Amino acid sequence: MVVSGKLKEKIIIIAENDKSLANEISLHLNEHGFSNIRLAENGSQIYEILRSYYTEPEKIGLIIVNDALSQCDVREMCMTLSNDDGFSVVPCIVLCSDKQNGSNVCSGVCEHREKCLSYKLTSPVDYSELLIVVGFQLNMTHERLLRHKQEERLINELAERKVVDAKLKYIVVHDELTNLLNRQNFERQLRLILNRSNIRQQNSALLFIDIDRFSLINEIEGFEVGDKLLIEIVAIIRKETTKNDLFARIGSDEFCLFLEDRTAKEMKQFADKIRQLVYDFRFFTGDVCYSTSLSIGISRLSAITAVYHPNELISRARQACILAKENGRNMVWEYNEKDFSVQERHRDIYWVPLIRKALLEKDFFLVFQPVVDLLDGRISHYEVLIRMRWLGNEVITPDKFIPVAERMGLIHSIDQWVVEKSIDFLADLPGSMSDVSLAINLSSVAFQDRTLLPTIKEKLELSWVDAKRIIFEITETSAVENFEHTREMITKIRTLGCKFALDDFGAGFCSFNYLKSFPVDFVKIDGQFIQNMINDETDQILVKSMVEIATKLGKKTIAEFVEGPETIEKLREIGVNFGQGYILGKPKKNILSSNIIPLPMLSDEADKQIQGHFHQVIVKN
Ligand code: C2E
Ligand code: CA
Ligand code: CA
Repeated sequence: MVVSGKLKEKIIIIAENDKSLANEISLHLNEHGFSNIRLAENGSQIYEILRSYYTEPEKIGLIIVNDALSQCDVREMCMTLSNDDGFSVVPCIVLCSDKQNGSNVCSGVCEHREKCLSYKLTSPVDYSELLIVVGFQLNMTHERLLRHKQEERLINELAERKVVDAKLKYIVVHDELTNLLNRQNFERQLRLILNRSNIRQQNSALLFIDIDRFSLINEIEGFEVGDKLLIEIVAIIRKETTKNDLFARIGSDEFCLFLEDRTAKEMKQFADKIRQLVYDFRFFTGDVCYSTSLSIGISRLSAITAVYHPNELISRARQACILAKENGRNMVWEYNEKDFSVQERHRDIYWVPLIRKALLEKDFFLVFQPVVDLLDGRISHYEVLIRMRWLGNEVITPDKFIPVAERMGLIHSIDQWVVEKSIDFLADLPGSMSDVSLAINLSSVAFQDRTLLPTIKEKLELSWVDAKRIIFEITETSAVENFEHTREMITKIRTLGCKFALDDFGAGFCSFNYLKSFPVDFVKIDGQFIQNMINDETDQILVKSMVEIATKLGKKTIAEFVEGPETIEKLREIGVNFGQGYILGKPKKNILSSNIIPLPMLSDEADKQIQGHFHQVIVKN
């Protein structure tokens, strides 16, 4: 039997009570090139040798063991070897002194172990025969191992291919992170449902679910934590759904859920339930605990309004969701035709002539709200806010007419009007108030107005007002949406000497990265994070992060909607530089003669003190 040199290097354990017989066998094997022979006098010595090769079992070639070896039950040993991952392939040649007739080689000492051969010892031992058996067993095992490895490789390859195929198929249909349907497949399945001419359809609705402030948590804690939060929220919602409901992730933090067989009331109750569950849920990451909430828009299929394309349904639910957000978040809003197009159109038609008239007939006027240094109460500047007179003495706030003006192209005239009036206002102040500065709001489309820069420049030159006394506020959302144009506009206006503030910071959930790119002096943290921050730990964490980042970038921070003395304390603690809000001063038609506001203490006296402290300087508007 030809045995390769490599196989001859393998360890052969000879376990034999009779020492001289063991040596004899060893000598014969050695003479035929088997170089690695170990002797064992009893069962435990076999185990000792095996144990020393535990990490490299492939080095063990075979075991020649006497059937009557002391401290050894050969069958039990074979069983143990069979069950061991490493040594299961090691063959045994069992030497038995059985005086049976027939071949010396007889298999079946251990019925369950094909790697076990028994070899009948005769006296004198026929070594040429034993060598053949040894060679045969080594070659067999080697072959078996090769085949086994090959099979394993094939199986692995096949399995891998199958997994990849299955994964690919799955990814095409599902969102990888949440295992929910992806947008495409959701739309496809929804289209099939919508095409089904089934009256039951009318008991269906689509929920558009948006996680409030998700991007901000993503931004602060990183995508990995954001992903975890998504998975946990999905799990909460999924628990409430049935297998017939279609649940899909259609944006980074936007989900659609199509529900059937529920009445309008049940739909609303369902949406409210998941909203409440998520609101009650606390998300822990490290030492920090976040609370979060959902804004949910519902769009029901109705007999009156036919829906032909899934996008129509999704779009309506999304619009309802936007209203849920606009109305304070953590809210369920049902789509209603009246909320949207009709009313919107009515609003525009109604307001346009009023805005034109106001511009012509001086129905607009300005009010001023102080922005106060939170350390010493000094007034840094005043924000200019526009108002419209209505039927003589009623006053209309800008949220009613600014959006219409933006849509209808009248906003540039308003922006210019405010700029001119504000500079006039500064020019008219007495010399003792030459340090007063104003912050002027620019609309989200101000960058489109090519005449804005020349207007500001000309007005400043004519009025002799120092450009440093003007700060322009632009909202973060509009700045990011029109990134390049806005940056260009800011840069040009800054060359005049004016300053800039990024308004409503945080509301648009935009990337902090943008902050680096805008040359602004102030960051105004959106009021929604401030108003209730005393009772909301999440708000505090978010404000802290915004302040940290803004400060690192060398920008001063302003908190708006400061309404209580505790908020002032908290903001100071966090390191916010300035505050603006009703407790520090409401928007007024005139500005204060003193440039210091005594900061309210944590007592009821505080408010009274502020109210009583000042005489007001009335300035012609
Ligand atoms: P904004 O720039 O974020 O202005 C802050 C708004 O919050 C003002 O409402 C102000 O009156 C109000 N506010 C101030 N302190 C508090 C407070 O402690 N609590 C609460 N709840 N509210 C407070 P207003 O004047 O109605 O202005 C609304 C928005 O209209 C402004 O938001 C700004 O985006 C826009 N706007 C105001 N004036 C102008 C303007 O002259 N031009 C343009 N383009 N937009 C303007
Ligand atoms: Ca503002
Ligand atoms: Ca603001």
